[in-house]
Amino acid sequence: VKNASLAVVAALLAAATAQAHSPKGAVGGGSTVRAVDPAAMVLARQRFFGAANVDPATGAVRRDRVILSWFGVSNFAAAIRGHVVLLDAWVARGAHSGYVPTSPAELARLMPELVVVGHAHFDHAADAVPIAEASGAKLVGLREHCSDFAQRATAAVPSPCVAVLEPGEARKSVDLLRGVEVRVLRHLHSGARTPSDDVGGYHVPVLPQPSLTPVQHPPTPQDVADTVGHAPDGEGGSVMYRFAFGDFSLVWHDTSGPLTDLNPGTFPLLRDLRPVDVEVGAIQGFNQLTNGMRDPRQYVEALRPKRFVPSHHDDWLPGITGPGSGFRAPLEAELARMPAEQRPAVTFLEDPRDYVKPVVFEVAIEPERLVRRCVGRGVLRVALDGDIADVDSVVVRRGTRVLASRLPVRLARSVVRRGGRLRATLVRRDGSVAYLARTLPRCGLR
Ligand SMILES: [Zn+2]
Ligand SMILES: [Zn+2]
Repeated sequence: VKNASLAVVAALLAAATAQAHSPKGAVGGGSTVRAVDPAAMVLARQRFFGAANVDPATGAVRRDRVILSWFGVSNFAAAIRGHVVLLDAWVARGAHSGYVPTSPAELARLMPELVVVGHAHFDHAADAVPIAEASGAKLVGLREHCSDFAQRATAAVPSPCVAVLEPGEARKSVDLLRGVEVRVLRHLHSGARTPSDDVGGYHVPVLPQPSLTPVQHPPTPQDVADTVGHAPDGEGGSVMYRFAFGDFSLVWHDTSGPLTDLNPGTFPLLRDLRPVDVEVGAIQGFNQLTNGMRDPRQYVEALRPKRFVPSHHDDWLPGITGPGSGFRAPLEAELARMPAEQRPAVTFLEDPRDYVKPVVFEVAIEPERLVRRCVGRGVLRVALDGDIADVDSVVVRRGTRVLASRLPVRLARSVVRRGGRLRATLVRRDGSVAYLARTLPRCGLR
């Protein structure tokens, strides 16, 4: 079995370095996912995001949370203000099977709105198109990724793909998720560069730990075929994402490049993404052999998150990877080079223990408020204030009488004269309801 695993790795590496790309579009049986039924969606969301955070009737996920559920490498199922999205889309398999306890079919059952891709190597995007086709999710990536995905389409109508940056563009704010500010920044893939800032003994290469995973979780021929078929998938550039709403911001990057050696001009753009509450960033890559944890540390220094969640360090390709626990000490040693007051707290995920377990961040969203202001004798302006991005509809009543079914509204003297109490009923995007009440001032009438 160990030999079979090494053969897989050899085939993957050979395919990945081959110049000729194999024809795209052939999707193996293991990648084929079927359309989704609503009850299955609720179950899948409860499993990934925690039953307490998912409405059992509708599957809506709490909007005052960011929830991350890891499924290997830098792949996360995420709920951001109730929006379910995938951050990368590949269930690690091929050199092993069943190590990551989910499947492309289950990810499709989450009914994600978006499949967001940081770059298009197989360990980040091999399952993106089948999941999008089965779930109706939109694909999101660089223009180059969208072009690749269009070539892989098997459906009569290819999944829509949002290109967040065109070739040559460095950064942008994009409108992807209602009520969530999204910013994107082009950066660099990891690379085995000789560090230009080398001083004797400073850079400490990190070697993978030995792995028993292929013995404990032997690969199936289908998984081998699926993954070998995607091994030549090109990077297509690398992009990071910053999601923010309420009092919270999250940056996710699925690779960390040698910026110091190749493009130090990216550092100021990283600093522009501050403030960052949580950075989810790749710590494993080709550069682990040349500069160890330098590049991940420099991303942390530039983004200055309060909390860092390392990723990509798990045993996704035994032969070149091992258990992620081997990265804990090297990462800690590298972060110790930072001034203590700038060092983030670390949430260290371990494979396979932390696969498909919700990591929950609570977010304070400014509550919706009913505000009113006299704008003339006997004339009252009524409006909504606070964070109203989730409000789908509003009805304002006095007693049983409907005064307005949209806001802002001006109430006429004939209405204001009677005083009383305004009651507003808000229905939000996720079906939740809020009731607000204020007294109705007379605005100078008596
Ligand atoms: Zn890559
Ligand atoms: Zn990768």
